[in-house]
Amino acid sequence: MSSVESYQSEILNSINMGLIVVDADCHIMMWNSWMEKHSGISAATALQQRIDSVFPTAPSIAFINALKNSITYGLPAILSNALHRSPLPLFTEDESGHQQIPIHQSITITTLTAGNQASCYLIQVTDSSTSIRREKMLRSHSEVLKKDATTDSLTGLHNRRFFDEHYKIALGQAIRQKHLLSIFMVDIDYFKQYNDYYGHPAGDKILIKVAATLKAQISRSSDMLARYGGEEFVLVLPNMTAEHGLQFANKLIAAITDLQLPHLKSKSNQVISISIGLSTYDPNQHREVSALVDAADTALYKAKQQGRNQACFLALDTLIAHKQQIVRQ
Ligand code: GH3
Ligand code: MG
Ligand code: MG
Repeated sequence: MSSVESYQSEILNSINMGLIVVDADCHIMMWNSWMEKHSGISAATALQQRIDSVFPTAPSIAFINALKNSITYGLPAILSNALHRSPLPLFTEDESGHQQIPIHQSITITTLTAGNQASCYLIQVTDSSTSIRREKMLRSHSEVLKKDATTDSLTGLHNRRFFDEHYKIALGQAIRQKHLLSIFMVDIDYFKQYNDYYGHPAGDKILIKVAATLKAQISRSSDMLARYGGEEFVLVLPNMTAEHGLQFANKLIAAITDLQLPHLKSKSNQVISISIGLSTYDPNQHREVSALVDAADTALYKAKQQGRNQACFLALDTLIAHKQQIVRQ
């Protein structure tokens, strides 16, 4: 029966990783086929040299230090590819087979001791390019999925799910940092009639145009616009007073009517228009904030009742007082 030892050299040369053995003076004692292939240096040439001078360009300082530490203290060392991309000048062909690209490596150094003999040091080199590539691909896939899950596919705006998350955070910040927070509920007027008269695909085009026009009015990075659902949009605006909020809402309303998108069934001059309900949380004035969206929604209802194509502000206090009255009755 043949012993494994007779296959030893074949195993070392077939293995899909670099194997180098050096002595305590860093002279190379073993250099397997994988190392020959990826360094372009034959075993015969390597065996006459030291590891720090065998390559045309020097190994990284981190690698030399790790090897020295292993030799001095007999401790194993690991160079992870996350910190040290290519400690040794090793190359592989790219997918086209025309270009040599550096191999991203993970390296471990272990001390070999055999009886009374002087220790030598085994350096194992693995190619981590494939796992890095896979990791990158998975990361970019998950970013796309995350973006898809929070984007409205028709208008490209943030969707309701994004708003829910963002609003929680914005509210927390306003409470902690004691700053104002305004909410706008925006709704297209007579939109059912538009769909009925011009058709659903034409209605979709209006939604896209309205979304883009509202978005163009936003300049602060802290402001957020989302499609709340159907033909409704929501804006979350930190650090905006009620007075300034009302001015801004009127600016949005004018930007939409200025588009002059014909809507023969609308009572707002037969063009597409929007109504806006807004409310503002002021940390110096309000102790309770949970009704902010509700207040903006009630204000929108009022804007519709008063004839549409207009903005209506409802103080958070008014809604809270109104609700307390209902509970008492
Ligand atoms: P108001 O002025 O009171 O807001 O009346 P309205 O007709 O705009 O409101 P209503 O809630 O009665 O109708 C909303 C319409 O919005 C009905 C629905 O068909 C339309 N809608 C909702 N989502 C979409 C969409 O994604 N595409 C299109 N084309 N229409 C939509
Ligand atoms: Mg609506
Ligand atoms: Mg509407």
